[in-house]
Amino acid sequence: QIELTNVSVLFKAKNRTISAVNDVSLAIEAGEIYGIVGLSGAGKSTLVRTINGLQKPSTGLVKINGIDITSLTKQKLKQVRQKIGFIFQNFNLISNRTVGQNIAFALTAGGYPEKEQPAKINELLSLVGLADRVDNYPNQLSGGQKQRVGIARALANEPEILLCDEATSALDVATAEEIVNLLKDINKRLKITIVFITHQMEVAKKLFNRMAVMDNGVVVETGKTYEIFANP
Ligand code: ADP
Ligand code: ADP
Repeated sequence: QIELTNVSVLFKAKNRTISAVNDVSLAIEAGEIYGIVGLSGAGKSTLVRTINGLQKPSTGLVKINGIDITSLTKQKLKQVRQKIGFIFQNFNLISNRTVGQNIAFALTAGGYPEKEQPAKINELLSLVGLADRVDNYPNQLSGGQKQRVGIARALANEPEILLCDEATSALDVATAEEIVNLLKDINKRLKITIVFITHQMEVAKKLFNRMAVMDNGVVVETGKTYEIFANP
């Protein structure tokens, strides 16, 4: 359902052009957990930002459910973006709002009726195991708990796709593993497509069905995760 065809992203720096993404073609199927791995600066974030329309490719097509999003109007793009949840390395929670208010903010932005929000917030927090933390502020939570709230918020508007940008990179190994297990569970239960970018190979091994390896803007390898790790 996500199809990138010959996608390139160029950034103009002072006296040179940076080719952050260079002629990438990928097809990600509905319901899979697809990983994009590579070192810092490989172009992973830029590539993923083309999938939610935050970064317009210099050339190439980005199709979501068959619709090319590179030529949509702002209004249409907004509709597409409603179907995409995003989670971040540093959680991006609003620090002076409670957990419940953080999620309410996303629900309101998605047009969810205010009256029905408390029940929905409880459902979302139960899904991530934090129903009892609705009235806590982010600084009362551990890193793993903050990311669980980030996941609950990303799922607020029932997206078909969850984009995760280094979502476990700020967490210790054990907590990262908990988040990996939670995402696997959510993928299975909600049939949601997950695209996850990381430089952490242990996370890649445990989480991804298939993956692409990026280096210097280029996809150098794609395939099933166990096959890629079997052929060094
Ligand atoms: P990764 O996510 O793999 O760390 P990025 O996609 O963030 O890689 O960056 C890829 C390359 O593009 C890097 O060389 C980075 O400096 C450059 N880059 C990213 N965003 C911009 C930007 N807005 N302007 C100029 N260069 C950028
Ligand atoms: P971590 O080991 O991930 O840093 P913490 O030591 O920060 O985790 O937190 C451990 C537990 O204590 C967590 O369940 C967290 O929710 C709780 N906690 C931490 N700080 C506060 C606080 N200020 N108020 C309430 N609970 C807190």
